[in-house]
Amino acid sequence: MGSAMHMRSDAVVLFGVTGDLVSKKLFPALYELTRRDRLDVPVIGVARSPWDDQQLVTMARKSVTEVTDEIDDETFDRLADNLSMISGNYADPTTYQRLAERLRDAERPVFYLAIPPAVFGSVVEGLAAVGLADRGRAIVEKPFGRDLESSRELERTLASAFASERVFRIDHYLGKEAVESLYAFRFANRLFEPLWNNEHIDNIQVTLAEGFGTQGRAGFYDTVGATRDVLQNHILQVVALIAMEAPASEDTAAFREAEAAVLRQVAPLSPESTVRGQYAGYRDEPGVAADSNTETFVSTRLTVDSPRWAGVPFYLRTGKSLPGTATEVVVEFKQPQRPLIPAERGTVGLANLLRFRLGRGDGITMSIQAKSPGAEVASRPVDLSVDFGAAFGRRQEAYERLLDDAMDGQHLRFARAETIEQEWRIVEPILDLSTAVQSYEKGSWGPADADALAGGWHTPDL
Ligand code: NDP
Repeated sequence: MGSAMHMRSDAVVLFGVTGDLVSKKLFPALYELTRRDRLDVPVIGVARSPWDDQQLVTMARKSVTEVTDEIDDETFDRLADNLSMISGNYADPTTYQRLAERLRDAERPVFYLAIPPAVFGSVVEGLAAVGLADRGRAIVEKPFGRDLESSRELERTLASAFASERVFRIDHYLGKEAVESLYAFRFANRLFEPLWNNEHIDNIQVTLAEGFGTQGRAGFYDTVGATRDVLQNHILQVVALIAMEAPASEDTAAFREAEAAVLRQVAPLSPESTVRGQYAGYRDEPGVAADSNTETFVSTRLTVDSPRWAGVPFYLRTGKSLPGTATEVVVEFKQPQRPLIPAERGTVGLANLLRFRLGRGDGITMSIQAKSPGAEVASRPVDLSVDFGAAFGRRQEAYERLLDDAMDGQHLRFARAETIEQEWRIVEPILDLSTAVQSYEKGSWGPADADALAGGWHTPDL
């Protein structure tokens, strides 16, 4: 990678600036970066909607106000001074000519493609035609295709214009500090690494639960489903961080290689070990087919074919309209080799648990066995817990860090093309299954068969 790749970007272009992602995540991120003196370059919004500069500023202010308790006017004005709009069609070459004109002084613009994947091709071609792809960086969002073949197609489209080191693929889980803390926990603590294998670990559970439904986007969701929406990307990223070997060095390339290497060892998921569910009432939502077989819940058993993990099942589940919203990894250790101290009557056994809470209120809980009070020599589980927010204060939002990194040309928190390919390879056997989804009640933990699959899920802290 040439050193120019690490020079800070000198312009940001947001394609799809009128959309949901920009309003929910990117304007607040740009505001935060401005506040931290990390952003003082032109920010150009592009969309078909006929917005002018003033409308752009108004919408930016509205979206920042929605997520910030108190907007700092001086900071916002600095951001507003950098904002400008280009309204145009993506199939029209003059859209890119106007953009190139506006960017004539920018040597390293970053292009955020916050647009539906169907228009990626036109935008990439349009940028290449005016010479902007040669000096710019492209940020692309999930979904990276719908399956292995379409993700390869998307890569070919990007590669036709952008050199590989100029492409930044966002899986925003990689930008979350809570998720990164898995990596720090694994490799900065001598205490646990010797135990991180099939000799000491019984099973690992990953739950990504949403306590809400499709939030008015049922029509879109019905074409996607839980496997494509979160299992293929966010959950498999978490599995990679939990299961990876130590990178060969502290370089970005070594980290990304270790991540891809463990995914290569993951066996394709099997339909027989997968339970797909759909919450009752989903088919009545606007935009959902009356006979929809789309899963709003999926639970599966994953195996990693490596000496470290042989025989250790990874149970994964995600769903909508579950009892609450939480993302958790529970590492269940094996029982003591000689159970000299019995479990107190009424408690659940002797296994130690490590619970990584990756969502709101993130932190770690370690469940240890302690002597139960009284005359009896018996043990009961007790929690040692840390809340990172309480311990460390404010942490950065994922999109703020990811934009900052892409502007620096830093790839650590972005997915490699191969990682995404491996993720599709792993989920491919369970995509679009014809077996009927099982119904579950809203507010439950999914179909009963999912409980049987793991032989005892640990309920997340909600
Ligand atoms: P939107 O559906 O809100 O679309 C973004 C903008 O793209 C729209 O405002 C519209 O702007 C333009 N657009 C829509 N359809 C077309 C079309 N057919 N041709 C050209 N332009 C079109 O998307 P989001 O903002 O939700 O998401 C953007 C990208 O990020 C997508 O790839 C999405 O999958 C991904 N993503 C989104 C997340 C989110 O939280 N929203 C989370 C993760 C990924 P206009 O009509 O003004 O041109």
